[in-house]
Amino acid sequence: MYTETGSQWNVAELEGAAHRHLISPAEELAKLGTSGGRPLFTSADGIHVRDSHGRTLIDGPGGMWCTQVGYGSKPIADAIAAQALRICYNSPWYSISGPAAELARRISSFAPGDLNHVFFTTGGSSAVDSALRFVQFYNNVLGRPTKKKIICRIDGYHGSSHLTAACSGRAGNRPNFDLELDTVSFISAPNIYRHPQGKSEAAFLEFLVAEFEERIAALKPENVGAFLAEPILASGGVIIPPKGYHRRILETCRKHDILYISDEVVTGFGRCGHWFASEEVFDIVPDIITFAKGVTSGYVPLGGFVLSESVLAKISGENAKGSFYTNGYTYSGHPVSCAAALANIGVIEDQDLLAHVREITPYFQEQLAKLRELPLVGDVRGVGLLGCVECATDPTSEAATDFDRQVALRIDRQCYENGLVVRPIGSMCVLSPALIITRPQIDEMVSILRESIVRVQAEIRAEGKF
Ligand code: PMP
Repeated sequence: MYTETGSQWNVAELEGAAHRHLISPAEELAKLGTSGGRPLFTSADGIHVRDSHGRTLIDGPGGMWCTQVGYGSKPIADAIAAQALRICYNSPWYSISGPAAELARRISSFAPGDLNHVFFTTGGSSAVDSALRFVQFYNNVLGRPTKKKIICRIDGYHGSSHLTAACSGRAGNRPNFDLELDTVSFISAPNIYRHPQGKSEAAFLEFLVAEFEERIAALKPENVGAFLAEPILASGGVIIPPKGYHRRILETCRKHDILYISDEVVTGFGRCGHWFASEEVFDIVPDIITFAKGVTSGYVPLGGFVLSESVLAKISGENAKGSFYTNGYTYSGHPVSCAAALANIGVIEDQDLLAHVREITPYFQEQLAKLRELPLVGDVRGVGLLGCVECATDPTSEAATDFDRQVALRIDRQCYENGLVVRPIGSMCVLSPALIITRPQIDEMVSILRESIVRVQAEIRAEGKF
């Protein structure tokens, strides 16, 4: 049934097997085995995926914010095959992986400031989880056992391990899991579109900074270990904070000796036109940056964090009293994943993709912004090749309504019919295409999205609902 080339799929059998045996990461378990609806993608090339019905679609979300260089990259596939044959695995506990060492050197060379020590994991959740565990370790070694609380934001997303899920503030991910931890404290999302009515962006920034200061005071600085934040809240709906937000928050962290962890799992590796967005886009050098996804363009799993030399120095060398560090993933720095990442970095450099993203970003954002003229669209926003169109059927409502969410889902289905995969997140259609996208492809993508919104708009008008 499943052949080596994947060209002779028995689609009905595979769909049946999926419905009977495969649990997806987002599934209504009461309907397990009966719910269909997910497409089966059989092959892909560049920015396109092909489904089991033989339809070719533009992959709007770029997998899940990860297919930077696009599908079908021969240099990456060759690097994976070559490394698998050379040495597919070695234990990071007692040996060095050549590709991991070289990748750590490369990442250190383009990470901001003195961030130059890399710990590899298997994906984004394990990267953020490891960074947070490092904060615990760090403060214990420094003899500050209470300095453990983590401040994070409503609508942030940091992963699916217990600790990272507990730090994720998207309400929809929380039901029926025991995620309330007294070490985790949430502050407001820096959401300009949904922020309290009547406040200017500058006043909203002051509110957010004051809220952070007040929270630190309430928890007491000696109890707060880290602030954890995505530069742009991605899964929470491409939320771009007010100008100066990260800088002000970092200054507050510095004042209270709180580590700033910038979760660049989405924004890293070219998404915003730079290797990392923290310094180049948001003017901060954090203490730790987490990465995953784009580091391999999604070809194989890999994640990690890069840590500041000065932070490490506080618990190493002469200061190393009882600082034996264990965070032992079998696949930490997996040679095949690291070889894929090195090839991926090579492709990004050879094709000058960082410059390409910077050059094409204004065009992408301008085309997307034109959708704002549609009555169904409440807001359009984005940075780099990250964009979001938010539906708002009731402009007087401060929050997205259930109907807004249904409408986004209908637009998503219509887009699929018209040849575009879109990722609906709540009331939002979110796009993060492969970095290789061209102007004509942007035109095609935005035109399908426009047509689909117009169609759904007409339908709900005809139904008397808008
Ligand atoms: N952090 C951020 C900002 C993410 O968007 C994600 C995944 N979407 C994660 C962490 C978790 O990564 P993974 O799914 O690879 O574990």
